[in-house]
Amino acid sequence: MELIHQLNILVIDDDKLMRNVLAAMIIDNGHLPLVASGYEQALSLLNHHKVDLILMDVEMPDIDGFVLTRMIREMHSAWIPIIFLSANDSEAYLARGIDAGGDDYLTKPVKEVILAAKIRAMARIASMKDQLEILNRKLEKLTNIDSLTNVMNRRALEETLINEWAISQRQKSELSILMIDIDFFKAYNDHYGHQQGDKCLIAFAQTIKSQLNRETDRLARYGGEEFVVVLPFTSLEGAIFKANEIILALKEKQIPHQYSSVAPYITVSIGVSSTRLAAESVHELVSQADIALYQAKQSGRNCCEIFEENTVIL
Ligand SMILES: [Mg+2]
Repeated sequence: MELIHQLNILVIDDDKLMRNVLAAMIIDNGHLPLVASGYEQALSLLNHHKVDLILMDVEMPDIDGFVLTRMIREMHSAWIPIIFLSANDSEAYLARGIDAGGDDYLTKPVKEVILAAKIRAMARIASMKDQLEILNRKLEKLTNIDSLTNVMNRRALEETLINEWAISQRQKSELSILMIDIDFFKAYNDHYGHQQGDKCLIAFAQTIKSQLNRETDRLARYGGEEFVVVLPFTSLEGAIFKANEIILALKEKQIPHQYSSVAPYITVSIGVSSTRLAAESVHELVSQADIALYQAKQSGRNCCEIFEENTVIL
């Protein structure tokens, strides 16, 4: 099925009669014409309108169609198909047009049936290009999202951390992170099975997410049952407060876990670190949170601990 796609077609021609003839043909074929008599008008229209296709006269005073095409290609990063119109039908001339950045060539006088066919071909390409862009955006989103829990994946987390670290360094603002690990999750999987384990992770991620109210706060799955919360512009005290809110939210949520030694429901251990604790790199910030998480596990789980220097890992 061919998509009917109404195009905005820009006609650039110094000949008024030619402009009118082409505009009429464009309307006949169900599209919208925009007309320009020279380069200034053409560039201005291009800056103010969405243009899907350009019909470009080659022979024009001041700036000819080949030069104007090069200018447009330099100024506009988005690809707009350009079809040249010329009375000159030599092969060398056609090659010059393609080299200048044109996509096709029509000789004058223009036959309506040929023009209509070329517009259809270009419309098809334009619509494929649109679909490709939509797919690319979807793909980009997919590569940043953990498919099970629908939160950021580790790859996106690393990017986010690098960005947020740079912002906090530049603005001298505090950046805090929480490293979160579900307590006795292996026992959960062993007893309830992996399918239930997956369901648990989904419910868990939703519970944590519901505790993040600011748009800048981000949740990521670090791997397995480990998650990271990134808290830009957040003090160490603010991060501890958030960690305790998460612990409390899980207590209220009561996702059953009969095989946990801490509580009959899903609990977490949380390691807290912040740029205030003098990490020298984003990697150090993460490893500080990891060390604090280890401390929280040592302290009996279902709690949060702050990174402290000289922590001895047993
Ligand atoms: Mg001309």
